[in-house]
Amino acid sequence: MNMELRLLKVSFIGLGNMGFPMAQNLLKAGYELIIFNRTPEKVEPLMKQGARYAETPLEAAKESNLVITMLSDDAALEEVVEGPNGVLNGLSEKGIHVSASTISVDLARKLSAAHAERKQHFVSATVLGRPDAAKAAALRIILAGPEQARQRVLPVLTALGQEIFEIGEHGEEGNVVKIGVNFLIASMLEALSEAQLMVEKHGIEPARFMDVVNALFQSPIYQNYGAIMTEQRFEPAGFKMKLGMKDVALAIEAAQSVQAPLPLGELIHHHLHEGLANGYGELDWTALIRCLKHSN
Ligand code: NAP
Repeated sequence: MNMELRLLKVSFIGLGNMGFPMAQNLLKAGYELIIFNRTPEKVEPLMKQGARYAETPLEAAKESNLVITMLSDDAALEEVVEGPNGVLNGLSEKGIHVSASTISVDLARKLSAAHAERKQHFVSATVLGRPDAAKAAALRIILAGPEQARQRVLPVLTALGQEIFEIGEHGEEGNVVKIGVNFLIASMLEALSEAQLMVEKHGIEPARFMDVVNALFQSPIYQNYGAIMTEQRFEPAGFKMKLGMKDVALAIEAAQSVQAPLPLGELIHHHLHEGLANGYGELDWTALIRCLKHSN
C-alpha cells in the first residue's frame, strides 16, 4: 500500500488523561484511528466516535505502521513495545513508533536501536501541557528522531499541538529536553509551595499573593499551577503526583549519567516521596504544597 495513504491511518496506544484527548483530536482531524488501551473500557467513547479497537499493541501496529504511544512510564512502554504482542513485532520495515510518554533517556536510546535493527524508526515526541491543553490541541511538542521519519509524522503532530520544537536526529535528545523542562516545572512547584505557605502563615490570602506573582512572571505555568494550589483542586489529578515523582527521578538519573549536579532535584524528590508515603500519589502533583505543610 502507498505509504502516504497508510499515514492517514494512525494507531494510538494509551488512553489515559493525556492520551484520550490526543486520540480524540486525531479523529477530529480526519485520521482513521486504531486504538489500544490496557483497560479496554476506556476505548468505548472513542469507538462511538469512529475509532477501531485493536486487541493487542501488535495488532495496532500491523494495522497502520504508524503508532503513537502515550503511557505512564518506562515499565509500561517496555511492556507495550517489547512484549510478544508488542509494537516491535507488529511494525513492518519503515514503520514508525512515535513515543509521547515521558520516559528515561536510556529507554529512548534502547528503543531507537531496537527499532533501527528492524529497519523501523523511533521518533520521540514528548509533550508539554496538561490534559486541558491536550483537549484544545494546544500542546507544545518536543520532536527528535531521524529526519525523514520526523517529516513523515509532522502533519499528524500538527493535529495535536500549537508548536513543535525539532531538537535533533536522535530520539533520546528530545527526552533530555523534556526531562529538563519538567525539572524546571517541578522546581517552580517547590518554590511556589514554599512561598505560598510562608505568606499564608503571615495571614495573607494566597490568591492575592498570586496576583503579584502572575503580574511579574506572566507564565501559564505560574498562573495555572498557582491557581490549582490556591484553590486546592488536587482531584481529579491532571498530572498525578506519582508521575511527577517519576519525572524528577528521571532528571536525577539523567544528571547523574553525565555527572551534572542536581541538588534541587534531590530535595523535590524527597518531598514528593513523602507525599506518596502520605497517600497522595493519585492527587495532582501540585499537592506538593500539602507535603510541605505536613513536614512543618
Ligand atoms: P495516566 O492518566 O496515568 O495514563 C497512563 C496510561 O498508561 C493509561 O492508558 C494506562 O492504561 C497506561 N498504562 C500504564 N501502565 C501500563 C502497562 N503496564 N501496560 C499497558 N498500559 C499501561 O497518565 P497521563 O497523565 O496520561 O500521562 C501519560 C504520560 O504522559 C506520562 O509519561 C506522563 O509523564 C506524560 N505527561 C503527562 C502530562 C499530564 O499533565 N498529565 C503532561 C505531559 C506529559 P490503563 O488505562 O489500563 O491504566
